[in-house]
Amino acid sequence: MKSINIVWHHHNVTKFDHSSQKYQKPCIIWFTGLSGSGKSTIANALESKLFRMGKHTYLLDGDNVRHGINKDLGFSDEDRIENIRRIGELSKLFIDAGIIVLSAFISPFHSDRLAARQLVEPDEFIEVFVDTRLDICEQRDPKGLYQKAREGKIAEFTGISSPYEAPTKPEIHLDTSKYDVEQSVQKIINYLEQKGYLNA
Ligand code: ADP
Repeated sequence: MKSINIVWHHHNVTKFDHSSQKYQKPCIIWFTGLSGSGKSTIANALESKLFRMGKHTYLLDGDNVRHGINKDLGFSDEDRIENIRRIGELSKLFIDAGIIVLSAFISPFHSDRLAARQLVEPDEFIEVFVDTRLDICEQRDPKGLYQKAREGKIAEFTGISSPYEAPTKPEIHLDTSKYDVEQSVQKIINYLEQKGYLNA
């Protein structure tokens, strides 16, 4: 049942206070791409670098979230939509706390990424398209999932039996056939520095 009689509380310590204390502008860096494209690898390396720079971050990872807050959800279209909705709402809370959030989820549908984007301010959402061809992801198959999907053991697997809608206007496009992990990280850091996220 939907909650009623709920009134939004205004807090004394605001998003602005949280972020100025940390000398950074909070945002969500939203990695999207096929399974095995490199989202977690790049997000992890980026978080390490930001951490070393003294920035306050939090990495939300697809599998980890599915072990906890979203463990009741499967992979049907409906559950994928709810998965992304909850991640968007979680990220919004972290942004309120002044944190730079990194999220690494396949997030295959335009409409869900748009819904997550619309939860926060326009300059708080940075979409990073980790663009790796399906055949390369399948060759890497870091978790052995493509093989299982090809054998019909996993239903609705993105790229095989469920669509991936590539972003048309991501803030950052990483062609991983051109950039290694370190270069991808640097490209994102450059963007964050140029746009003033790291020295607010
Ligand atoms: P995802 O989180 O998108 O499912 P992972 O990060 O778990 O993908 O796996 C990607 C794999 O591809 C890792 O083993 C990573 O080391 C490898 N890889 C090879 N080249 C690159 C590259 N240029 N960028 C990112 N990952 C790469």
